[in-house]
Amino acid sequence: MARVQLKNLEKVYGGGVKAVHGINLDIDDGEFMVFVGPSGCAKSTTLRMVAGLEEITGGEVVIGDTRVNDLPPGKRSIAMVFQNYALYPHMKVRGNLAFGLKIAGKSKPEIAAAINDVARILEIEPLLDRLPKQLSGGQAQRVALGRALIKKPGVFLFDEPLSNLDAKLRASMRVRITDLHRRLKAEGLSSTVIYVTHDQTEAMTMGDRICVMQAGRIMQVATPKVLYNHPANLFVAGFIGSPEMNLIEGHLTGDSFVLGSQRLALGADMLGRLSARPADAVLGVRPQHLALAPDGLQARLTHAEFMGHEVYLHADLEGRKIIAVVGTAEYETLGRAGVIHLRPTPEHLHVFDKSDGRNVSLREGSCAA
Ligand code: ADP
Ligand code: MG
Repeated sequence: MARVQLKNLEKVYGGGVKAVHGINLDIDDGEFMVFVGPSGCAKSTTLRMVAGLEEITGGEVVIGDTRVNDLPPGKRSIAMVFQNYALYPHMKVRGNLAFGLKIAGKSKPEIAAAINDVARILEIEPLLDRLPKQLSGGQAQRVALGRALIKKPGVFLFDEPLSNLDAKLRASMRVRITDLHRRLKAEGLSSTVIYVTHDQTEAMTMGDRICVMQAGRIMQVATPKVLYNHPANLFVAGFIGSPEMNLIEGHLTGDSFVLGSQRLALGADMLGRLSARPADAVLGVRPQHLALAPDGLQARLTHAEFMGHEVYLHADLEGRKIIAVVGTAEYETLGRAGVIHLRPTPEHLHVFDKSDGRNVSLREGSCAA
């Protein structure tokens, strides 16, 4: 069992910098959990406390049934993969793969068999007799992955492992890693993953669940679908999704959202969903959920980006910059007119309390972890 629990986990660095503010998180055995958030939000610090590379200054890390706070990394049943690969430069690939097993006292035939296995899975057989400097970035990352895999750990810890690769290689490595995770699970191997990234595409495509962090705190923990459809707060709403969700400041008055000289009737369904009626509110609508419609909100088109099958319309709505994504054919009906009308689809609207950022329009239970 390699369930991982973080209990009131805190980190205060020397000099008094509080990096992690009491995090609680329960990661299931075999789950692929992604930590995502902007640079400096303490993803690495949290991961390194799980790994045993950083002292825990408050709270607990539990792996399986064991509190590991005082165990060295080698006793935690974890393997870590770093952004910079961290291969031993003077050892060939074969030696790099063998290293951990040699230390653990495995026999030569056992080690050779394990290397063959891992090399086959990761398709690095032709590279076994090369030195790290003779590898491309993608090859080196596969070797780093192999070095983790060969240890058969209960928990894999990844810290931005794909950041040094170009976009195409990143995309193929994403698939390789998630496939590998699925395969290990299917073989009945306990393979819990904690994967750190600042890249929302990686988070959305790889995670069973995603833990969104900001400034050493958890903003929301949920499946990719729930994060996208039911963001718990303004931070998550703005962080997940591309182009970013439009977050439009205004006021709730009666049954409408008022922005400048225009008002948007919210409709019975939305009004029924509101758990609060903050006077200062923020309306959230994804660019994909704004459609051209004559009775929509009036905006001034400032710029159009042609993306192929769709066009990103940049517009000014009562002094607020917004983006709408429309089909190319639809865009071509616009002509050169500077004024456009955009109607949000009511079921995809969100209302946030401006004062604390909370989504006050969530259906009950919809954003549960
Ligand atoms: P992330 O991985 O999300 O980019 P980090 O975990 O590296 O963030 O850093 C979280 C916070 O802790 C940052 O404010 C960073 O400056 C601070 N920090 C990281 N390492 C140290 C350290 N060794 N000493 C003091 N502060 C640190
Ligand atoms: Mg980091």
